[in-house]
Amino acid sequence: MAKIIDGKAYAEGLRARIGKAVKTLQAEHGLTPGLAVVLVGEDPASKVYVANKAKQTVEVGMNSWEYKLPATTSESELLALVEKLNKDPAVHGILVQLPLPKQIESAKVLNTIDPAKDVDGFHVVNAGRLSTGQDSLVPCTPVGSVMLAKDVLGKLDGLEAVVIGRSNIVGKPVAQLLLQENCTVTIAHSRTRDLPGVVRRADLVIAAVGRPEMVKGDWLKPGACVIDVGINRIERDGKGKLVGDCDFASCEKVAGSITPVPGGVGPMTIACLLHNTVRAACQQKGIPVPQM
Ligand code: NAD
Repeated sequence: MAKIIDGKAYAEGLRARIGKAVKTLQAEHGLTPGLAVVLVGEDPASKVYVANKAKQTVEVGMNSWEYKLPATTSESELLALVEKLNKDPAVHGILVQLPLPKQIESAKVLNTIDPAKDVDGFHVVNAGRLSTGQDSLVPCTPVGSVMLAKDVLGKLDGLEAVVIGRSNIVGKPVAQLLLQENCTVTIAHSRTRDLPGVVRRADLVIAAVGRPEMVKGDWLKPGACVIDVGINRIERDGKGKLVGDCDFASCEKVAGSITPVPGGVGPMTIACLLHNTVRAACQQKGIPVPQM
């Protein structure tokens, strides 16, 4: 049976280290990192994410601002708010929660955020810097996924890694991070032929598809590490339930280690967002980024 990778515990430890780093920055440099989160509209899942982000930001001792705008907000109104936050020296990180209402072009908004404050790492400058191996702010879920893989496997050098999904938010950046770790990386997607055959090659599988329980145990190489990024809400036995992109029951019998859903990658995302905010604050002030 696979070792269960406890992302909740890892994220708690990371948040504690971030809290310590924030205290030191306040004491030694008078710097309190600050994160502004912008929510447009009433999407229930987004509301929960934004509330959790704000709560955890305050818990580690940082400043938090929440901007809640109506679903009817125009693109120019949102861009004006982003420009205002770009200029505010107390705001070190800006996050615009996705998805945005259809009258707003997401790419335009994301690319208006100052790249130095882009703690989600979605600005084209940060994506370009990541793909050319330059220092950048890196998307949170991919960073959290790789942290968990490294925690359980140690060095990833030379491993066969298969990433399922090619989104700009998860699939592509996680593949870039694995390349930096010297993995041999395959990106599989909706047009991949013989997905089970591709996945069977992998020492490390990262599933970011958005299809409940798609990856089955008999797709896995025995002993593989499985990082399940998917968060899917399904109905089972008349009850709502969260499941990943991997069929946990069959995968845990074959994998060497696996993240559960919930309690795996999910908690890592906000912890990595706080990590990015501290980093962004230090870089904006010319202070060395503390170890966290
Ligand atoms: P997305 O819809 O943007 O991308 C999904 C990708 O999966 C696409 O690239 C597509 O090619 C691929 N795909 C679709 N069907 C496929 C199939 N049958 N076989 C192989 N590939 C297929 O989704 P996303 O934003 O990358 O998110 C993926 C999942 O991760 C979702 O469940 C999402 O909820 C979850 N997620 C979790 C976190 C977190 O843990 N905090 C953060 C972001 C996303």
